Amino acid sequence: MVALVAVENLVKHFPVKRSLADVVAGRHPVVHAVDNVSFTLDENETVGLLGESGCGKTSTGRLLLKLDQPTSGRIEIAGKDLATLAGADLKAFRRTAQLVFQNPFDALNPRFNIRRVLAEPMINAGIDRREYADRINAELARVRMQGVGDLLDKFPHQLSGGQLQRIVLARALILGPKFIVADEPVSMLDVSVRAGVLNLMREIQETLGLTAIYISHDLALVRYVAARTFVMYLATVVEDGPTEQVISSPQHPYTKALLAAVPVPHVNQNREPLPIKGNMPNARNPPSGCRFHDRCPMAIARCAAEVPALREIEPGHRAACHLA
Ligand code: SF4
Repeated sequence: MVALVAVENLVKHFPVKRSLADVVAGRHPVVHAVDNVSFTLDENETVGLLGESGCGKTSTGRLLLKLDQPTSGRIEIAGKDLATLAGADLKAFRRTAQLVFQNPFDALNPRFNIRRVLAEPMINAGIDRREYADRINAELARVRMQGVGDLLDKFPHQLSGGQLQRIVLARALILGPKFIVADEPVSMLDVSVRAGVLNLMREIQETLGLTAIYISHDLALVRYVAARTFVMYLATVVEDGPTEQVISSPQHPYTKALLAAVPVPHVNQNREPLPIKGNMPNARNPPSGCRFHDRCPMAIARCAAEVPALREIEPGHRAACHLA
């Protein structure tokens, strides 16, 4: 396998407005969105970024698409350092890396009909106009929307949520990307259409050999689509590994808590509850040592003082916990 994406010590801090006390104390407060995240993704690989909202998974996805600039760290995609991309190279990158938005109702310009929605990326990328019709037809066929009446003349508000998400997908694919980031791709859809959209995405990804990151708080979704999973907590990766290994043998108490929160469908199947207290701490002031220590039911004195390293517990499976 060839690494398509290589992320090294990625950090993203967002400055926040200084209070009078900050000014007096000379402080420049920041929100810690991503702290020291490192990983690689192979070509054709599908991974999940899992965690509660505010854990940094969407920020990580945006950095990978160069929609935000990192505070520090390095991202290489197909051997190119994203920080140095500009001009024609940046334009080429925009064609190869695409975002599938969470909310199809917000993702599309309501004043554009579907023909224009799908043409927009091609206009921005400088594609020859004579290719538009063929490309639009090909992508509509791929997302099973070809032959839907006068679809191209309709406006987004005239389509259902499931149809809109297929159009969002077609738009993301129309420039022939190699890498997609899908941010909670079905969370805004009715349960009845989620499986259809997810199956379609998985099928397309396998057919086209795409590398994909699914960002989700939904363990079942990640389990369904991702071969490898990264669990994030308060801007850091606390556990990663093959998805089935992470689920069947979780090593970090936070992962165990996420698993414990998933409803078990069978009356005879017990899962030991592992409740965690409180809410995620303020990302302006992450706790010292292990960031999970003030919620962790297994915390020991060392946890508040020493940051646990993300270390390999078994081949390919890492966890950041002193007790793992
Ligand atoms: Fe809990 Fe300590 Fe492990 Fe952190 S390092 S997850 S506080 S046991």
